[in-house]
Amino acid sequence: MLKVIRRKSILKEAVDEFRKSNLSIGLVPTMGALHKGHISLIEMSNMHYDVTIATIFVNPTQFNNTEDLAKYPRNEETDIALLSKTGCRVVFIPSVDEIYANPPLITLNFGYLEHIMEGKHRSGHFNGVGLVVAKLLGIARPDGAYFGQKDLQQFRIISRLVSDLDIPVQLHLAPIVREENGLAMSSRNERLTAEQRQLAGNLYKSLSLSSDLLFSGVPQQEVKLAVYDFFKALDGVDLEYFEIVDFETLENIPSLNEGDQLALCLAAYVAGVRLIDNLVIEL
Ligand code: AMP
Repeated sequence: MLKVIRRKSILKEAVDEFRKSNLSIGLVPTMGALHKGHISLIEMSNMHYDVTIATIFVNPTQFNNTEDLAKYPRNEETDIALLSKTGCRVVFIPSVDEIYANPPLITLNFGYLEHIMEGKHRSGHFNGVGLVVAKLLGIARPDGAYFGQKDLQQFRIISRLVSDLDIPVQLHLAPIVREENGLAMSSRNERLTAEQRQLAGNLYKSLSLSSDLLFSGVPQQEVKLAVYDFFKALDGVDLEYFEIVDFETLENIPSLNEGDQLALCLAAYVAGVRLIDNLVIEL
């Protein structure tokens, strides 16, 4: 039976009970408007841990754009109905006041990681992500937590948060679940028409194209130009960035070698909706 909990104090009591019964806990933080990508995280957590706690919280401190926050899809009822079919034991759905009753004085700075890609284009975003994930880990005290590769930079940020602060939790990175046309599943896709979703399939197409070019030995700068040209020729999609980076550090690699693990990362706007995606390859 899925239990819906809205208060920190009640969640802490539920966690105490699980701990007393020696049950291991997996945490799946989300912002709701759940789709198959989220559900895959819940299923992985169910396999590894005795109980899964999902959280649904549209975290205002990680939005650098008020319109994006206002337009973020919210489907609480359908989310709860979906989760109740997954075997998830608890869903924590706090209000903004419940989480930020005492507005944090602390600011998190992730060094070079917040001056590249998402950090560069969304000022303050990772401070908000770091704060809320630290809070959720503190409240739910899970043994493990699941995050999607779609937000690869977020995963690297959270990994540093956990290792820099010695937070005792095992982090798991889950593969990207995609639509048939390659479009990475995202709550933001709900804001697109069927036609725009088709168009958004080009994000994955451009990643596949860049992967093919890199495998055939085309130099990075030329691959980047090819991706920028691909989007220039495409009406209705505006590329914000495309980067070829090291999968672990997310830094640019000056010269590539066989065996290098790369992440090809991009952000683009389709009909005013900002989407991100990436593809991980090994040369
Ligand atoms: P969100 O609700 O968008 O903040 O996402 C919650 C978690 O689900 C994050 O760890 C995301 O990386 C992950 N996630 C989002 N989309 C996908 C997807 N298409 N496939 C796998 N995981 C995803």
